[in-house]
Amino acid sequence: MAEAEIGVIGLGTMGSNLALNIADNGYHVAVFNRTTSRTREFAETAGPLSDRVTACETLEAFVAAIKPPRPVIIMVKAGEPVDQQIAALRPLMQSNDILIDAGNANFRDTMRRFSELEGSGLTFIGMGVSGGEDGARNGPSIMVGGTEPAWRRVEPVLTAISAKYKGEPCAAWLGENGAGHFVKTIHNGIEYADMQMIAEVYGVMRDHLGMDAPSIAGVFSAWSTGPLDSYLIDITSEVLTAYDPKSGQPIVDVIVDAAGQKGTGRWSVIESQIMGVPATAIEAAVAARSLSAMREQRAVAQARFGLPEQSERREGQAVIEDLEKALLAGKVAAYAQGFAVMAAASDEFGWNLPMAEIARIWRAGCIIRSQFLDEIATAYAERPDTGNLVMTPSFATKIEATDGALRRVVSQAVLNGLPVPALASAVGYFDSYRRARGTANLVQAQRDFFGAHGFERLDEEGEHHGPW
Ligand code: NDP
Repeated sequence: MAEAEIGVIGLGTMGSNLALNIADNGYHVAVFNRTTSRTREFAETAGPLSDRVTACETLEAFVAAIKPPRPVIIMVKAGEPVDQQIAALRPLMQSNDILIDAGNANFRDTMRRFSELEGSGLTFIGMGVSGGEDGARNGPSIMVGGTEPAWRRVEPVLTAISAKYKGEPCAAWLGENGAGHFVKTIHNGIEYADMQMIAEVYGVMRDHLGMDAPSIAGVFSAWSTGPLDSYLIDITSEVLTAYDPKSGQPIVDVIVDAAGQKGTGRWSVIESQIMGVPATAIEAAVAARSLSAMREQRAVAQARFGLPEQSERREGQAVIEDLEKALLAGKVAAYAQGFAVMAAASDEFGWNLPMAEIARIWRAGCIIRSQFLDEIATAYAERPDTGNLVMTPSFATKIEATDGALRRVVSQAVLNGLPVPALASAVGYFDSYRRARGTANLVQAQRDFFGAHGFERLDEEGEHHGPW
């Protein structure tokens, strides 16, 4: 008998935890996984929630177990597997059923899936989910793209399972078709920048100040009660205090310095470039991960060039305070850029993205959750049409208070040969953004010289050419 109110396909890290979260919130959930042994394992570990879980070994049994109209969450590996899963489900589902792709889809795939399902009678939702394993189990941040009526139908269950920030659910409808997955992509792009800047500051403490992991952990731990208070800062101090049982050393010291990436950071950069919106902090972070992966080349280059002597070392609390402020300044640039990219996409795709709402649903549950996002939510609520976060009164004040520290940290790092590409990008971004007369007049002259591209004059209308 069909008694489930919702279904989840894919019982990997995210799907299994999401299903348990749904059951925990009082909903009866049917589950299915391509590999049956995983379904059986899941059923065995559901414990007291088993009463509200129907584990199915075939797709037919899964669909039959859900009361129509059926909401079905697909939480499988992004890309081709999602298309395969949709193709397998389509003949089994009925008009009005809702398919929700909750994986990390490229929003362009989501838009294609929307148009492929148009006229099929099935409703599609592209849903970004952030929070990792713990978020999926205890409350993630949920970013929904689709029609508003489709959202209304699944809103109760999605708000129930989402994280709560001071009681407010971190789940929202953000716009039509690819809006949810686009916002999730930019969330991840910002996450890349946040993590990279934290790693850069860690690098200054380790390689310039000569601090060991536990001492650096103490600094991050202290910062977690100040303006940098965030999940990423918290886990950084926790990570830095963990010891490797095998070697007895801090675990970070035995981890290979080559970062992985699955695509969302790169997609953020590609989309920002397509729209012509600078996202230099995210670009720097993505490039830093790529450079980190070139381990062998880096070793050869170090053997050839060596590393600079650490000179002009400034020590003491003032340096640590500078690092904290530099991180805050870098964060402002990264978030300003991420939100600017979303604003451009909103115009381009007609999504009408609610910026304050996006900041609100990122305040809890997701990986970049922080106090800082509450301030962004307030800034956008006060000025919904703000062109750039740095121009809102509260963030302009933040920049003024941290700008000097950012410059000292970046220049000190550069003088000592320490890579701080994301923090340095923040300085370059800000200096370019706040300068009314830049240097592109020369670029325009060069373009006209070699390509007759023409230029505008300060003192006259129309297109002009130089006397070359
Ligand atoms: P896992 O690797 O833990 O699980 C992958 C799941 O996808 C398994 O259930 C697997 O089934 C299924 N799968 C793979 N290929 C196919 C296919 N061709 N047909 C049907 N099912 C398939 O992944 P996660 O749970 O970590 O990730 C799931 C999605 O959520 C991804 O899009 C990921 O990017 C996204 N995500 C992940 C987060 C995380 O922190 N892990 C955070 C936010 C989003 P089988 O058991 O048969 O192999």
